[in-house]
Amino acid sequence: YAAKRSGGGSTFYTPELDDTLLSRATLIAQLRRAVEEGDGLDLAFQPKFDLRSRRFFGVEALIRWRHPAHNLLLPDRFITLAEETGLITSLDRWVLRQAASQRRRWLARGVDLDIALNVSPHSLLEGDLAGDVAGLVRELGLMPAGLTIEVTEGALMRDPERAAEVLRRLRDESGIRVAIDDFGTGYSSLAYLKRLPVDEVKIDRVFVKDMVAEPRDASIVRTIIELGHNLGLAVVAEGVEHAEALDRLSAMGCDQAQGFHLGRPSPASMLVELVEGAGGAAGTSPEPAMAAR
Ligand code: C2E
Ligand code: MG
Ligand code: MG
Ligand code: MG
Repeated sequence: YAAKRSGGGSTFYTPELDDTLLSRATLIAQLRRAVEEGDGLDLAFQPKFDLRSRRFFGVEALIRWRHPAHNLLLPDRFITLAEETGLITSLDRWVLRQAASQRRRWLARGVDLDIALNVSPHSLLEGDLAGDVAGLVRELGLMPAGLTIEVTEGALMRDPERAAEVLRRLRDESGIRVAIDDFGTGYSSLAYLKRLPVDEVKIDRVFVKDMVAEPRDASIVRTIIELGHNLGLAVVAEGVEHAEALDRLSAMGCDQAQGFHLGRPSPASMLVELVEGAGGAAGTSPEPAMAAR
């Protein structure tokens, strides 16, 4: 595994290596327990900013796992494992319930923030996501839900007919908005993009992060914005880390933006302070840049 080489050529172990010593079986057992009991799982919320009104209008819910022995684990460390073991369906359903409950609590305090959540292909295509969401929305008295479901191109292309059917029901029965996440990195057919019930495309951050210095990246971003607008979709840029990128995106007519420059993923309580203006946009850094990466 990735033991770092020191200058002298001998290897030494980084603290992260502790994690790799955990056997896969142990990690799976711990993840199963966490998902089944919701114990140790947490949501961080990252603000989404509207470039026209210059206001925060929503947040994206991102799963975190306070692992018993390893601080905070980010999704890159366990989502694939959850997908491989089938735990992802329960995990995504847990996130859905937490996000909807958070929306309910915020509304009760007069805070109207759309909450976006990520849904894996499995969770979208297996089981009855549309029925579950409708039940939850009814139970919590949220209609329209004020929720956005983010799916990747891969999820849509795996079974476009079924995906379209589920997304259509989510929209019709619960007023869910639908976003295509990480847009530009997958292989979505433009023909399907036209036919799928989608409200928003999120430009993947690989194109956004260097767009100020790299004309080709800027061209890709501009092209996605134009494509999205021609299809009547809202376009969101993710991974906005600097003011310059934000300005360029504004000038290009991008609708919304998300990224460390605007706000890092944070606990729900800090989010409200951020959107209500305390502290300003940049500079809130409850999650250190390198948290458990
Ligand atoms: P995503 O949905 O594309 O989420 C955006 C990721 O980019 C988040 O990482 C966020 O912290 C990070 N990010 C935001 N702004 C910036 C920035 O300016 N610079 C950089 N370098 N990164 C930024 P995170 O939280 O580690 O999540 C990674 C991925 O894990 C997500 O990508 C999503 O695909 C997946 N994920 C997160 N939560 C869930 C969940 O509840 N269910 C499922 N199925 N997947 C999830
Ligand atoms: Mg997302
Ligand atoms: Mg994304
Ligand atoms: Mg992603």
